[in-house]
Amino acid sequence: MVEDQTPSQADSPEAQRYNRIRRWLGIADFVVGFVFLVVLLAAGWSAWLRDVAYRLGFQNYSLSLFIYLLLLLLISKGLGIGFDYYGFSLERRYKLSTQRFRSWAWDEVKGFLVGLVLGAMVVELLYFTLRQWPQHWWIVAWALFMGLFIILAQLAPVVLFPIFYKFEPLDNEDLRRRLVVLSERAGTRVRGVYRWKLSEKSKKANAALTGLGATRRIILADTLLDNYTPEEIEAVLAHELGHHVHRHILKSIFVQAAITLFGFWAANWTLHYAVDQHMFEELSDFANLPLLALVSVVLSFVLMPALNAYSRFNERQADRYAFESIARVEPFISSMNKLAEQNLAERTPSKWVEWFFHSHPAISRRLAAAEEWGRKHEMHSQV
Ligand SMILES: [Zn+2]
Repeated sequence: MVEDQTPSQADSPEAQRYNRIRRWLGIADFVVGFVFLVVLLAAGWSAWLRDVAYRLGFQNYSLSLFIYLLLLLLISKGLGIGFDYYGFSLERRYKLSTQRFRSWAWDEVKGFLVGLVLGAMVVELLYFTLRQWPQHWWIVAWALFMGLFIILAQLAPVVLFPIFYKFEPLDNEDLRRRLVVLSERAGTRVRGVYRWKLSEKSKKANAALTGLGATRRIILADTLLDNYTPEEIEAVLAHELGHHVHRHILKSIFVQAAITLFGFWAANWTLHYAVDQHMFEELSDFANLPLLALVSVVLSFVLMPALNAYSRFNERQADRYAFESIARVEPFISSMNKLAEQNLAERTPSKWVEWFFHSHPAISRRLAAAEEWGRKHEMHSQV
């Protein structure tokens, strides 16, 4: 497909630079994490940390496992904090962030604690199954893990997100009415629309469909609500409603379940291999946790292009749904342009960058699709 690029669609050097730095920051962070896991295993540091954890944990298995995890997370935070700070200062340098250092540091602390709590739940569950069912642990662990995942997806909008941001029900009557009309046309009901106070931390705009069942809701950043026309916000709402109508969250959970099952199978195979090679004495020796983490990291890395392609497919579907349900595509186009400018997004990333990194189609493609739809639609109405 040949893209007709108007000059306004070309990326500014600033946007290119910002996105390139962010990408390299992500890659560097990933590489350091990967090397850390390999070194932990190869240098025997993991076994040493396990022994320290046992001494501090009064030889109690579950407590020692928790202490081992805490030590591991503290060290990796120490290794990654430089990247985190660089990311924070990058947003400020490009005037995309309104967050103060204190607020950022507090978010880091909260993020670490949330990670510790969730991580502890996962590893305690994992090693419990390893001790109870050494042969079939991976199937049991997979079932428990998916259960936990679904509970967390439900709780996230009401428990996790509010740790970092404030939310309140949308009280704009005009928008609520537009949403009801959209929902009725879709033959569905949206349980809630919330104003997401993103402006306390960022100048970027965003919107999302989150939650499951009773907590399913559309969240709209105040940075979007306060600066976009009602028609533009309606276009964004229609896109989010498209995710809902096409059941994208549910489908993603099924995809996730299949990948996780394969991941647990691969983890089981790897652990047995490591025990056979006398790297560890038994499966339930939690010094092998970095090995499990490596299996998960390698799998996520290998599958990233495929998962991103699947996500882009879903996004195109949600876009098409939006085109069909709003009166004109122009507000969709102008909202995309505003978003790109506000978020300093790359409209035309290189092909391989889009293929590997992007969960959303390039904005230039989304705009082209909208324009094409608009042309066709106009043609039909003239006939
Ligand atoms: Zn979307």
